[in-house]
Amino acid sequence: MFNKEFESMPIKKLRELQVERLKWSLGHAYKNVAHYRQAFDKAGFHPDQFNSLDDMKRVPFLMKQEMRNNYPFGLFAVPMDKVIRIHSSSGTTGNATVVGYTKNDIEVWAEVMARTIACAGGSEKDMVQVAYGYGLFTGGLGVHYGAEKIGATVVPISGGNTERQLMLIKDFGTTMLACTPSYAINVADYVEKNRPDYKWKSTKLRAGIFGAEPWTEQMRKEIETRIGIDAFDIYGLSEVIGPGVSCECSAKNGLHVFEDHFFVEIIDPQTGEILPEGSAGEIVYTSLTKEACPVIRYRSRDITKIYYDSCSCGRTLVKMDKVSGRSDDMLIIRGVNVFPSQIEALLMEIEGTEPHYQIIVDRKGALDDIEIMVEVNEKIFSDEVKVLNNLSTKIRQRMQGVLGVSAKITLVEPRSIARSEGKAQRVVDRRNLK
Ligand SMILES: [Zn+2]
Repeated sequence: MFNKEFESMPIKKLRELQVERLKWSLGHAYKNVAHYRQAFDKAGFHPDQFNSLDDMKRVPFLMKQEMRNNYPFGLFAVPMDKVIRIHSSSGTTGNATVVGYTKNDIEVWAEVMARTIACAGGSEKDMVQVAYGYGLFTGGLGVHYGAEKIGATVVPISGGNTERQLMLIKDFGTTMLACTPSYAINVADYVEKNRPDYKWKSTKLRAGIFGAEPWTEQMRKEIETRIGIDAFDIYGLSEVIGPGVSCECSAKNGLHVFEDHFFVEIIDPQTGEILPEGSAGEIVYTSLTKEACPVIRYRSRDITKIYYDSCSCGRTLVKMDKVSGRSDDMLIIRGVNVFPSQIEALLMEIEGTEPHYQIIVDRKGALDDIEIMVEVNEKIFSDEVKVLNNLSTKIRQRMQGVLGVSAKITLVEPRSIARSEGKAQRVVDRRNLK
């Protein structure tokens, strides 16, 4: 354990610590962020009335849309000269959620990521190859700071460039790989197809910490047998802090949430009622220590369960299941969040297309494939092939630029997408992630 005091704290003491920290966090949000002050006042709740965890049910939720409405810095609780880092989710202006970090927030983030690496058996003796993207996305720098904090050697290679990834794993003696699980499978595919001389066994790679997209036990087995490493699930979301919200330990039967920094509840996504331990529902996060961007009862839309039973690893922290789905229509494609509404808005801007489309997501091999079928109007459809080709190129480029994922665009004739009760089925997800 990286931090035995907090990771194996007696439950009673941990709950007392949470109450004390929640008092601070709720007060901090109320005092410094107009959005929270208005929402709390409207709900008839004042942070001074908070005395026990049971009082949390009186605190209003924070929705993703409210974060967007406050783009870019409306939810910041400290002056900008205290903010030393900005990260953001993908999306166009108004769609993206922007988060800021104070010096102390970066410290907390490094701490929880160091714990995550330790959970997967890492220490100062390891060399961690960070193949998550660096930039506004929280993955790369999150893992990077955590690996430095634990004293490991960091290889900040960022995503892509598989040939170079393989070379560094071999030449540098990388022991831990951090990337999306689908990229890990992609690397295994690449080796089998193109590098029959590459022997995983002759490298020092022994573990991987994989996150930023949902994955299955079957994918774990595949990674573990094909690469010959231990694969651990890590979880995080930029709204809460980035990677390091929770992670699997050696028991690999759930992800420990770092409860001294994040308070979690499971709610019924329809009614908002808090559900008992072991029920499937939407996980809701409240930050306990964040200064720049406190999140108070943030509705993640991720569906999971939580368990308070003890764990063989000795951690007393609550465990959450692997995320099994979403309570909204968001798609996660190659680690990028995509909402059908974003695609629809884009098509509306392009002349010649109809607002009828279908998004087909598939996973052929390791990586997600996205195909967007777009109906075009009669006039365009009767035009020559060149015009149609230009249109599909234009749509593809706009999608790539705005969403950050490349999609195959297929133009189809008017009224060819099946409609039921006048509505087309917008998303066909053929990935079998259960
Ligand atoms: Zn454990």
